[in-house]
Amino acid sequence: MNTAILESTINTGFDRDTFNTYVMNTYGRFPITIEKGKGCKLWDTEGKEYLDFVAGIATCTLGHAHPALVEAVTKQIQQLHHISNFYYTEQQGQLAKWIVEHSCADKVFFCNSGAEANEAAIKLVRKYAHTVLEFLEQPVILTAKSSFHGRTLATVTATGQPKYQKHFEPLVPGFEYVPYNDIIAIEEAITNIDEGDRRVAAIMIEPLQGEGGVIPGDLDYFLRLRKICDDTGILLVFDEVQTGVGRTGKMWGHENLGVEPDIFTSAKGLAGGIPIGAMMCKASCDVFEPGNHASTFGGNPFVCAAGLAVLQTLEKDNILQNVQARGEQLRTKLRSIVSKYPKIFSEVRGWGLIDGIEIERDFDLTSVDIVKKAMENGLLLAPAGPKVLRFVPPLIVSAEEIDRASEILESTIASLVI
Ligand code: PLP
Repeated sequence: MNTAILESTINTGFDRDTFNTYVMNTYGRFPITIEKGKGCKLWDTEGKEYLDFVAGIATCTLGHAHPALVEAVTKQIQQLHHISNFYYTEQQGQLAKWIVEHSCADKVFFCNSGAEANEAAIKLVRKYAHTVLEFLEQPVILTAKSSFHGRTLATVTATGQPKYQKHFEPLVPGFEYVPYNDIIAIEEAITNIDEGDRRVAAIMIEPLQGEGGVIPGDLDYFLRLRKICDDTGILLVFDEVQTGVGRTGKMWGHENLGVEPDIFTSAKGLAGGIPIGAMMCKASCDVFEPGNHASTFGGNPFVCAAGLAVLQTLEKDNILQNVQARGEQLRTKLRSIVSKYPKIFSEVRGWGLIDGIEIERDFDLTSVDIVKKAMENGLLLAPAGPKVLRFVPPLIVSAEEIDRASEILESTIASLVI
């Protein structure tokens, strides 16, 4: 189709009723239609400007239309975008090399989303259990309550939130849940499950729970998890889909905890908004062989060129330093707002640029109420459950943008509680 016709179709033939007629009803969308973006700003079809503190849900690492990403994907699509994994491509090898050289991992498997990366990790754990731990006929993976690991059947089973599992039973066998940051619960679960052929093969956990309410992992808890795994041979798997790629102020979220996993996953921010997922592991559990796992699109040259552009820009522009400084600034601002409204808010928490404020359980206000009002005032925020407001701006956010977002938030709250 010629570009002029395509543009006129988009500009004249679209409205939200048409959208809802044809698109399946799986998302509760807010009533705005976004048309373009630049840096940390977005504009809707009415020309209204928004400060974007959602970033595609912690995904647009470099914001919108970043020149390095635009240049890399433009160049790559003109040269080669997809050929299958029958053949080698330089881009996939280069991206894997970058990740390995900037993490504790030895090997990388590429796919297309966070759920798929976690599926790959679950399959790797099971193969390891059947072939290396041998005695394990029925391997069990322990995950945390309030966790989020994805929407495929295995990852929604891994997700420790029954609301996501309802009506999708029967769930996948081989998962048990423990409270987050509770070492006694893990020790008890391991003891209780170890009977007959049923044994714990892995603990799969987020270094900071994102969807579950921006809850950082406890340092001592994670150190003890690592010790338990070292002592027993159980694998430690970190879901870094939301916390990876600089989001927390370190390259990987687990670097805040001083503990290395055996396996970890990434997606969201890895290619800055181009769909990608990756599962990383240490050489000691690299048990996949040809035919064990695959993905048609996984690691194609287009997405890997995007991933390389994001990671190289992160390093070249010293963006982790910005994440740390802007994160401090944001939490200071949020604490000052929270201290003005002690009846409404209970806590500010987070690492780097994944931060949240908790709304008092008994106060009659939800995170969505605030998100809607802030949107009217030109600030996009994401809920993390009904009582937590989440702040995950692009990692390139400026000091002025943090100040502006805080001003909008404060006036939004003032207008809601009058
Ligand atoms: N794991 C975590 C920690 C997530 O936050 C998410 C998405 O929010 C997922 C997995 C699922 O990722 P995706 O939506 O790319 O499948």
